[in-house]
Amino acid sequence: MGVERVSKRDYYEVLGVDRNATPEEIKKAYRRLARKYHPDVNKEPDAEEKFKEVKEAYEVLSDDNKRAHYDRFGHVDPNQGFGGGAGGFEDFGGFGDIFDMFFGGGARRNPNAPQRGADLQYTMTIEFKEAVFGKETDIEIPRTEDCDTCRGSGAKPGTHPETCSTCRGTGQQELIQNTAFGRIVNRRTCPTCGGAGRIIREKCGSCHGTGKVKKRRKIHIKIPAGVDDGSQLRVSGEGERGIRGGPPGDLYVVLRVKDHEFFERDGDDIYCEVPITFAQAALGDEIEVPTLTGKVKLKIPPGTQTHTYFRLKGHGVPRLRGIGQGDQHVKVVVVTPTNLNEEQKELLREFAKLSGDDTHGHQETLFERMKKAFLG
Ligand SMILES: [Zn+2]
Ligand SMILES: [Zn+2]
Repeated sequence: MGVERVSKRDYYEVLGVDRNATPEEIKKAYRRLARKYHPDVNKEPDAEEKFKEVKEAYEVLSDDNKRAHYDRFGHVDPNQGFGGGAGGFEDFGGFGDIFDMFFGGGARRNPNAPQRGADLQYTMTIEFKEAVFGKETDIEIPRTEDCDTCRGSGAKPGTHPETCSTCRGTGQQELIQNTAFGRIVNRRTCPTCGGAGRIIREKCGSCHGTGKVKKRRKIHIKIPAGVDDGSQLRVSGEGERGIRGGPPGDLYVVLRVKDHEFFERDGDDIYCEVPITFAQAALGDEIEVPTLTGKVKLKIPPGTQTHTYFRLKGHGVPRLRGIGQGDQHVKVVVVTPTNLNEEQKELLREFAKLSGDDTHGHQETLFERMKKAFLG
């Protein structure tokens, strides 16, 4: 399932601020909109709903933790996932989903009213480095559009849909029952026209009377540097076309980021492990460490213990919000030599003998301390 309805609007969009907005800007936008939609002030029928939406968006975006989480995962539950992904539409399952959105159940109040097009969701898998540095790419989105042959009417060219005489174009039938308790009015979808309000006598051959055709549309998208797994991009107006002149829906691109063989990422920071030899750890050395932008030199001080972290400042991921970038953390792992030849073994024994007292002494005190701690 690659496409589904997204019922929630992007919080940044709700507040009308961009993704880099400062807390000040968010607060200002919230105050303005809250005043505008407050149910005590605004008597529009959808004011209360808008007010709630604004409040919810503000609650998330005004809280640093919630905002960071939202930036990473959007409205999407990170554990839920979106199926195969893999960037393609192979699991798209044809166009059934989209057609269901259009023609699927639910009696509409007025079949002739304009309707906003459905939102579309597209899951896209990108490489680790593409998430870090951003990417511009074209994607192809299958969408339903008005049929060119009949211009969306569904009727064969030269003919016109007729207004349904059963429901007189309303798409609904009223069944009035007079009972002991009074008059009961039942509304049901008009059985003659199926709720469309119109009847097509001769169907258009290209779209089989639906007025809609499936088209693949190429859309250019810009993935900003610093996005992470689960980030969601909103492409305004690139969802399904509106119906009867309604506005189009939006396209949501949910990003899945592939793992890297060498680097791991936590927010804006990059982690990696680098093996060093026992001699390098003991004597110190200068080693080369791969970063996202190429190799850099790292000084290993003498006497470095295994699993010590070194920080390469500014070698992490560019911050999606704000400026600068995270750091790279390098964990050095001291590798114990194996397959020693006789000469090497002899030298190590010599080494052990020379430093024996020292190490031993150190270990004894350590054991002493452990004994005290555990045995009292
Ligand atoms: Zn047609
Ligand atoms: Zn009808």
